[in-house]
Amino acid sequence: MASAAPAETPTAPASWCGRGAKPRTFEKQPPVICYDKPAASIVSKEEYDNKRYQALTGDLVETLIVPKREARTWTMQEGDLCRVTVHEGSQVGDMNFWNLENTAERFYSGKTRQLHSSHLRVYDRLWSCLPHLRPMATFVFDSLAAYGIDEDGGALHDVIGTRCDDYTYKLITGKDRVGSCHSSLVKAVVEERGLTEQDVHDVWNIFMCTGFTRDTHQYFCKASPARKGDFIEFVADMNLLVALSACPQGDVSIQVGAEVPDDKCHPLKVEVFRRK
Ligand SMILES: [Zn+2]
Repeated sequence: MASAAPAETPTAPASWCGRGAKPRTFEKQPPVICYDKPAASIVSKEEYDNKRYQALTGDLVETLIVPKREARTWTMQEGDLCRVTVHEGSQVGDMNFWNLENTAERFYSGKTRQLHSSHLRVYDRLWSCLPHLRPMATFVFDSLAAYGIDEDGGALHDVIGTRCDDYTYKLITGKDRVGSCHSSLVKAVVEERGLTEQDVHDVWNIFMCTGFTRDTHQYFCKASPARKGDFIEFVADMNLLVALSACPQGDVSIQVGAEVPDDKCHPLKVEVFRRK
């Protein structure tokens, strides 16, 4: 039996797709800041400098090392200060925060980004999810503050990125892997706190240098400018459970999907100080 000739696939005419049409023009509008500094997003610098001083001159109540390519958790009381230090070599970290008494209340990176900016600076706050929307912590010191916003629009400590994960890695490479901030955070909260994968949420990307390309607005990262001895500090505004992953991308000088040599990865040091 002779097979029928394959039916021709219809193609869309150019006019149907809008090609060749006169370009549409739009009226120019000035940018308007959406959330223009609600009072609760502005802290008294004096008050937080004092909280910092009281904690740092109090007791060091916890010191822990987050090993390279792993994650750890710890708790803080309201008023405690946490210092995270790049104590061996350039390294970025991914942080999660929960209300210690109610882990359903957790860090809301999207709203934090809208209330402050894409990259957090000293005296910005970390906000909790709806319906709570409360300050969980306040950023009080950054040894890298002078980096500012670079010529490509890159800056540090973003609340843009989600966290590296093995599902996206598979989407890019087609390969299975366990070795991401997401998998490290899941392992830490499951083993140390009895939480689940669903409790891990979008992060505060500390020491990471990121931005959006000017021409296509694509998310980019650069090798972190953090060096041995650099640190950030934040004060807890409620009792907190905190998790930190020492990202398996190390200083993020290598594109996601490519192999990251072990010597690009380092641990991070965590210290918690409490006022007397
Ligand atoms: Zn990561």
